[in-house]
Amino acid sequence: MIPMARPVLGVEEEAAVIEVLRSGQLSLGPRVPEFERRFAARIGVEHASAVSSGTAGLHLALRGTGVGEGDEVITSPFSFVASANVIAYERATPVFADIDPRTLNLDPAAAAAAVTPRTRALLPVHVFGYPADLPALETMDLPIVEDACEALGAVHGDGTPVGARANPAVFAFYANKQMTTGEGGIVATRDPALKQRLDSERNQGRAPDMDWLDHDRLGFNYRLNDLSCALGIVQLDRLDGMLADRARVAASYREALAGIEDLTLPCEDADGDRRGWFVFVVQLPRRVDKDETIRALAAREIPAKPYFPAIHLMSYYRETYGHREGEFPVCEDVASRSIALPFFPAMTQSQVEQVGAAMHAVLQSGS
Ligand SMILES: *Cc1c(COP(=O)(O)O)cnc(C)c1O
Repeated sequence: MIPMARPVLGVEEEAAVIEVLRSGQLSLGPRVPEFERRFAARIGVEHASAVSSGTAGLHLALRGTGVGEGDEVITSPFSFVASANVIAYERATPVFADIDPRTLNLDPAAAAAAVTPRTRALLPVHVFGYPADLPALETMDLPIVEDACEALGAVHGDGTPVGARANPAVFAFYANKQMTTGEGGIVATRDPALKQRLDSERNQGRAPDMDWLDHDRLGFNYRLNDLSCALGIVQLDRLDGMLADRARVAASYREALAGIEDLTLPCEDADGDRRGWFVFVVQLPRRVDKDETIRALAAREIPAKPYFPAIHLMSYYRETYGHREGEFPVCEDVASRSIALPFFPAMTQSQVEQVGAAMHAVLQSGS
């Protein structure tokens, strides 16, 4: 069976992890700042703060905007649930706005229409690695935290890498992402004061220049350990190759899926924006049932996953905020038809063709 995702891990990763194991310093060691320096340089920002997950990074970056109880944060309903959850962590209200039907990212006009006197920040997501329209969102003059957890390697139309604008941007390193540290995340920022705050809050609120166990603010344990950072350093060396492989697999998919009527493929790059390939998500024709299609693919030994379901229609969000069908028609239509196909750098041409053949067979018989 073809896996949904698989990280690229070689002898270099093994050696790097073993070196940390043998050093005896598994946490708060030298690999953390080294990984941060290298990641910041790669993105083109001054600072980066490594944390235990992308979710932890989003939480701390959002706290950095000063959002609190009673505030509203505008975000996309078409995302991984973490981008909305972190708003609730701070007792603020996630306010969703509909998405652009081409890019599937937050629609700046819908975001502007959702602003109220309580709006305190924007949390756009670069979904499936396609750059969100930050130039438009930045004109709204609100603090922005970018969820770039799916967008390592993406580039905005003006040539700025995603994550290198003036806003803090969060990346994630779970094993299916463009690069992995097992679990992990990082906040990229140009702001030295934010870097200091992030470093303190990930470590129980310790001030960097204070004695052991003195805490001058509320903090968390969101540290990333040295084993993970050592892995991350090697993965950064491999990143260009892995990104090129993902782009190659995506191009093969476009060929293998060509000619299936009413199947919507990921949007092509436009206006200079460049996707950093993360997943290959297609929108099924309206004439077929999504769950049946997934079952029919599974019967042909092809895994596929509904990706993403709309956040506002998840049980917790319905029950807590009273959301219902019909609020965000573009998101709901796209979410009802979207499935992720197997996608990873080492995927072979013949594996892609196998998926393509199964898709042709299932979707033609389903018509
Ligand atoms: C992966 C991801 C995250 C962070 O996930 P973690 O598992 O916490 O690292 C956040 N937002 C989006 C859109 C993601 O895809």
